[in-house]
Amino acid sequence: MEKSMNMLDRPVTVLPGIGPKRAETVKKLGLETVRDVVFSFPRAYKDFQKVLTPHTAQANEEQLITGTLLNLNERNISGGRRIIQARLDDMLTLTWFIHYRGRGPSFLYRRLQKIKQIWVYGMVKDALFGLEMNSPEFFDKEPMHHGLMPVYPLISGVSNEQRKNWIRYALNYSHELEECLPPNISKNLLEREQAFREIHFPADWEMQAKARKRIVFEEFFLFNLGLQYGVKKASGFKHSLDGELVERYLKSLPFELTDDQQDALKIVGKDMESTFPMRRLIHGEVGSGKTIVAEYGAIKAVESGGQVAMMVPTEVLARQMIQRLKGSLGPLGINVTLLIGHMPAKESDEVRKALANGSAQVAVGTHALITEKVKFKNLTLAIVDEQHRFGVRQRLALLDKGNADLLVMSATPIPRSLALTLYGDLETTEIRQLPQGRKEVDTRLVDPRRRNDVYDYLVSRIKRGEQAYVVFPLVEESDKLDLKAAVNEMEELKRGLLSTVSVGLLHGQMGKEKEEIFQAFYNQEIQVLLATTVIEVGMNVPNATVMVIENAERYGLAQLHQLRGRVGRGDKPGICFLLSYNLSELGRARLDVIRNTNDGFKIAEEDLKLRGPGDLLGVRQSGQPLFKLANLLEDSAILEESARLVQELLLDDPDLKNYSYLKNELKRQRY
Ligand code: ADP
Ligand code: MG
Repeated sequence: MEKSMNMLDRPVTVLPGIGPKRAETVKKLGLETVRDVVFSFPRAYKDFQKVLTPHTAQANEEQLITGTLLNLNERNISGGRRIIQARLDDMLTLTWFIHYRGRGPSFLYRRLQKIKQIWVYGMVKDALFGLEMNSPEFFDKEPMHHGLMPVYPLISGVSNEQRKNWIRYALNYSHELEECLPPNISKNLLEREQAFREIHFPADWEMQAKARKRIVFEEFFLFNLGLQYGVKKASGFKHSLDGELVERYLKSLPFELTDDQQDALKIVGKDMESTFPMRRLIHGEVGSGKTIVAEYGAIKAVESGGQVAMMVPTEVLARQMIQRLKGSLGPLGINVTLLIGHMPAKESDEVRKALANGSAQVAVGTHALITEKVKFKNLTLAIVDEQHRFGVRQRLALLDKGNADLLVMSATPIPRSLALTLYGDLETTEIRQLPQGRKEVDTRLVDPRRRNDVYDYLVSRIKRGEQAYVVFPLVEESDKLDLKAAVNEMEELKRGLLSTVSVGLLHGQMGKEKEEIFQAFYNQEIQVLLATTVIEVGMNVPNATVMVIENAERYGLAQLHQLRGRVGRGDKPGICFLLSYNLSELGRARLDVIRNTNDGFKIAEEDLKLRGPGDLLGVRQSGQPLFKLANLLEDSAILEESARLVQELLLDDPDLKNYSYLKNELKRQRY
């Protein structure tokens, strides 16, 4: 590797304790380079500012306490478990539970035996026999950092301690995080390098807030800039008016377009015919028929002598989309090809050749489309399916492959008011109506005592040749106990209520198998998909009609709405059963909203009212946040301000001639 290469751009394997194998695990956290590690923020903090003693400790608070370890003892309890207890200054009882079947003292006990003065961190409870702390984290020396300690998102095989070590190491190179905002803007904010240090290891809550504000601002600013950059130049490709191919396509559609779809086609058509580059977002409900708009644009581009690249988030979705486009564009004589990472080298070489010489006109693919090797003869339309999150960087990289118009499709259910601010100058077209005749998904809240009936009904629909989903919630995919419980339930269903049908099991910790199972479901080799993960948001299996959502109370409303949007996408109506075993007043009110309306934007708004802004409208829950740190609701003032500043900047300098560092940052970041 070159010496001159930035440390932050190197792979995570340069970090202490990460070899090629662990790098694979770490990749699941979205961490591939050192920069990713720096840009992966704590989800919470532990307050290490004050070191208390058992005398000064407060009940019902998490805190760091030091004292002398007394009366250490260990004993067996049932089920191969042990309990270790000690007293801290004879004031506070410390308890650890461990699994240990061996003879003699456990490892933890032996470690504790060597400690005289100890520092423990945890929640102090005022119990019947005095103060106590369960399963505290402990240290045999005073912790070095006297501020807030970061708590990172974890998966099995990665500990918080390891993550802290990596970030400490990476921050040695924080000088590489040069200031990327223009001086007149950055002067009001914490300096960039300092912000990244303080967001990981804040001195106190005030610094944490300042660091957060700086990084949130930057996130929004770059996001907006990425959307708006390049729009004001009259140098776009001028597509021709709708021709014979478009006409034939529209005639071939087996249904009437909705008014909203027609409006969207008109406006996209106009955008594409203009000399200004199109930057348009099609924002619409799941199942509202956004793909029609994409197909129309693609045909129009091809008819104008151009090429089209369509980027989707996963290989499954890419395969699904290519099948669909082969059906719709193929008959018009348009050559549609697939480009994904997992493809024999020979095959992908051929695809790339066909794109470079223009014999392939439409490419559907994943990130594989934006690798350097891919060249187009004349790319004039880039379509990005933002059902999941693509970064500004990826969008720009795709646009860079030609002089292309951009069409972004999104189903992120966010309240309308926010969508406007969020997408700023990216012109937005909404598709609100569902296709005619499309029945709303019949959503029912079912008493769990009738669970068997629900599954009987599901099986009866399967016997009629239809397909179904059963969804199990996990609070966090990384939570092993939770996952195990869910997988157990899945196995039980498979052996029991669903033993007469073919079933596929799916969870987030699965590797490549995952794609195979999706594919088998798509090909109707599997009749019921049991999944812990959120089912691929873009999944379009029109034959799937029934969905059962177990523990529905654990989902956000927006997420439930997204989920049920997976059924009833064909001509047969969909039905969704919500099974809830633990329903509070609020829980019932929420599920009522879901039963009574089918408008995703309205649901997002209701969700907001009912739950407050803490939850990012279930967007965070689904694991696909739009931003790493920013919260659309809490930070909406920063969002507005950043959008305004971006506009001013681009008005002044549309090519960013004076801001090469901003341009570099845009290319680099992964937002
Ligand atoms: P999404 O907006 O979620 O991407 P799609 O474009 O995948 O939605 O459309 C969902 C389904 O609805 C597809 O099977 C599509 O063929 C069908 N569809 C789209 N528009 C209409 C319409 N106007 N009338 C009837 N069905 C439609
Ligand atoms: Mg779609």
